[in-house]
Amino acid sequence: MEPLAQLVLGAQRLGITITQAQLRQFHRYQEELLSWNKRVNLTAITCPEEIETLHFLDSLTVAMALPAHPPTGYRVCDVGTGAGFPGVPLKIAFPDIRLTLVEATAKKAAFLEHLAQALGLESIAIHTGRAEDLAHAPDLREAFDLVTARAVAGLPSLLELTLPFCRTSGLAVAPKKGNVAEEVASAARALQELGGRLVELRPIPEDVLPGSRVLVIVEKAWPTPPKYPRRPGMPAKRPL
Ligand code: SAH
Repeated sequence: MEPLAQLVLGAQRLGITITQAQLRQFHRYQEELLSWNKRVNLTAITCPEEIETLHFLDSLTVAMALPAHPPTGYRVCDVGTGAGFPGVPLKIAFPDIRLTLVEATAKKAAFLEHLAQALGLESIAIHTGRAEDLAHAPDLREAFDLVTARAVAGLPSLLELTLPFCRTSGLAVAPKKGNVAEEVASAARALQELGGRLVELRPIPEDVLPGSRVLVIVEKAWPTPPKYPRRPGMPAKRPL
């Protein structure tokens, strides 16, 4: 198969058209990821076909929670983005969004700075630090239309790390795998405390990506009390 053909096909099934220019950006992303991964621990996935599906396409599934044509300046925040997932693939596919990446590890943030340059991405901000601290910064708190985080924490902790960044009526979106019903049930108190309301568990069509993937979509129903998130480490140590 052509390089990145699976990405193009899967994106199409999600209703996203990938242009040649965007394809070149994904190709470069793959190269930079593999090259930096020799020095910095960015990903355990090193096979190009798997980067294509398990990182790029999987990231694009978050678009199922975006408006069909996100308006210019639509603000997206990706918390614990690591090597840029899911934020950077979304930014490549929807260049008009304003993307903020939050990542605690400085070396990963350095990769993201390099990547943004290499891909010629505009309207992208990279913050090195912990979500627990950054979510109290006045320019970041309650500032985003959509906040996402993949593979960062269980749902109760994840909500404490994401919902404070979200504006009222905005969305927090967590891609999850398998039977999420239990995880969602365990997050009832966190939702209540943080101002969240479960909107939907949206399954990802199996012909896009197999493995019972689900987007947990939460609406920010009312402002998060100022005491959240608690100090670094607490959301994971003592989930709400
Ligand atoms: N979202 C990426 C990376 C997942 S690994 C992906 O799906 O591939 C989890 C990442 O979150 C790591 O890079 C870690 O440094 C970062 N992280 C974990 N807790 C964090 C926190 N409280 N604030 C900011 N980043 C955090």
